[in-house]
Amino acid sequence: MPACLRPILLSSVIVLALALPVAAPAQHAHGAHQHGVAELTVVLEGRMLQLELISPLDNLVGFEHAPANETQRGALADAERLLLDSEAVFALPSEAGCVIREVGIESPWRDSGREHGRGQTRDHNRPARGDHEDMVASYGFECAHPEALRRLELRVFKHFPRLQRVRAEFATPRGQGGGVLTSGAAALAL
Ligand SMILES: [Zn+2]
Repeated sequence: MPACLRPILLSSVIVLALALPVAAPAQHAHGAHQHGVAELTVVLEGRMLQLELISPLDNLVGFEHAPANETQRGALADAERLLLDSEAVFALPSEAGCVIREVGIESPWRDSGREHGRGQTRDHNRPARGDHEDMVASYGFECAHPEALRRLELRVFKHFPRLQRVRAEFATPRGQGGGVLTSGAAALAL
């Protein structure tokens, strides 16, 4: 490369670096929002296994706006129901003896238009988050033999074809690590 081009390249790198903080506002409290990608956090402490899955809503239902009709309300309810079923989301080694103790979901339009008569509470004081929305599912397992928890498999890919990759991070008494899971490689070694 001619040496005279170098100053130009260098200056564009500097411009990019300066522009980044402005171009990437913190819309989300959790990680980066990228369609096709979700984040999984795995923490094992004693017998307690805490899992958190954060996904752009687009991966789960194909839209990120308030559901506009019965079909979209149904898609949202189906995604919520599926994520609340820990066995549809994770496969844990049976020898670890893990039992689900709690499961929770943060969904931007929970209770939206369902027959609960709580219409007044929906969208109540929701902070503006731009044009993107995430769904967050949290799971607490208690494992009789946590030392046998050497792997974890994600079962979500077949339920949500728009989901292509899950970036996973884990922390266990044996150490920390991470990986990228896909439908063809859905197991995380712990
Ligand atoms: Zn989005």
